[in-house]
Amino acid sequence: MSDRIVLRNGIVATLNDADDVLFGGNVVIEGDRIALVTADPVPADGARVIDATDRIVMPGLVDFHYHTALGKGYSDHLPLWEYLQTCWYPMIRALDPESAYWAALASYSESIKCGVTAVNDMYRQLEALADAAEKIGIRAVLSNDVATDEHNLDTLADNEHAFRTKNGAANGRVKILIGIEWLPLASEELLRDARALADDLGTGIHIHLNESLSEVEISKEMFGRRPTEVAYDCGILGPDCIAAHCVWLSDVEMALMRETHTQISHNPSSNAKLGNGVARLPEMLAAGLNVGLGHDAAECNNSRDMFEVMKFASLMHRAVRVDASLGQAPDIVRMATKNGNKGLGIDAGELSPGKKADVILVDAQSQMFTPLMPGDKGHVFSHLVFAANGSCVETVIIDGQVVYEDREFTTIDEEEVLRNANRAFLEVVERMEVPDLAAVRRS
Ligand SMILES: [Zn+2]
Repeated sequence: MSDRIVLRNGIVATLNDADDVLFGGNVVIEGDRIALVTADPVPADGARVIDATDRIVMPGLVDFHYHTALGKGYSDHLPLWEYLQTCWYPMIRALDPESAYWAALASYSESIKCGVTAVNDMYRQLEALADAAEKIGIRAVLSNDVATDEHNLDTLADNEHAFRTKNGAANGRVKILIGIEWLPLASEELLRDARALADDLGTGIHIHLNESLSEVEISKEMFGRRPTEVAYDCGILGPDCIAAHCVWLSDVEMALMRETHTQISHNPSSNAKLGNGVARLPEMLAAGLNVGLGHDAAECNNSRDMFEVMKFASLMHRAVRVDASLGQAPDIVRMATKNGNKGLGIDAGELSPGKKADVILVDAQSQMFTPLMPGDKGHVFSHLVFAANGSCVETVIIDGQVVYEDREFTTIDEEEVLRNANRAFLEVVERMEVPDLAAVRRS
């Protein structure tokens, strides 16, 4: 089969610096890269041609803070601490490689169906996750749930092993970062060791930081200062660090993020569902921070639909600030595409020659995109953020490979994945040791 693909006659939202949207545009992919983006006719020349008429052709979405998930739909009423202790940790402690593999395929398949081409996935059993990513064709940046030993999660040695076995796998689609679960399960020594290991391996760090008010209080109790101050002192922050949530940043913490050029994943629907609050997104953007968007995990969301996350990322801030000028559609789409790719060091996120070919086709022939003013790019972005949901995604190309076409996977048997994910879930539930809620509740 030819490795040249022509996407013909689409509404091409390039997300380039000029913010060009080409109506009746063509995108040529050669191998894993975009070769040409033009409004001029392009001959087929033996290429595979995909008709993009009435389709929005755009960069794939990046889920900037992600956990593969096996279970969802229970513990839906609990605040963060109790949810972690009685649902999340017992479940991920009971994972084995096989259950992680099917959980990852179930998770990645929902993400791809909703237009996601790259995930920043902190979870366990990374070798199995890398195999799942290789199989389905997604771009996966993986990190472990590292905590101090008494918590019975992952160690830095586990994370180093995953790096040495899987970093760069699948034509570079799989990348391994060092993951730190969060400060309440860490020590300053562990944080310093994590930074030293990341530097030694030449990779970055993924950490939950400042997610809830209780985390801030625990940080003050354990370390005598706020979470970002601890992370800063231990060398965790930096342009290669993705800090997830950052809901309760003080002005000082905001300045530390700015000084270190730390990447931030904003996860508004997870923050809302867990009752964690509303991050200071307008201030983060005003400070010039690079902010991407994440769904977090199906256990605490419960959807992996990044279109939904985009809508939350706009509406939450308008509601609490009483300001409809916030979160304008083109800026939100940029956060979900360019910013996430930039934060992960992926050379994608805009449709321009030379960029990695992570491209999605959105079906605009639906109620979601009706009416659509011809030639009006503002209308296109508005519909993407405020009207659409993930079911609008029709075709997904990652690293130049068509992994999902006309709403069918080319790489997996979807029914087999769902059947095995259900089985794996039941097996893990059998093995889970769940503490009594009253015993873990913080007074
Ligand atoms: Zn998370």
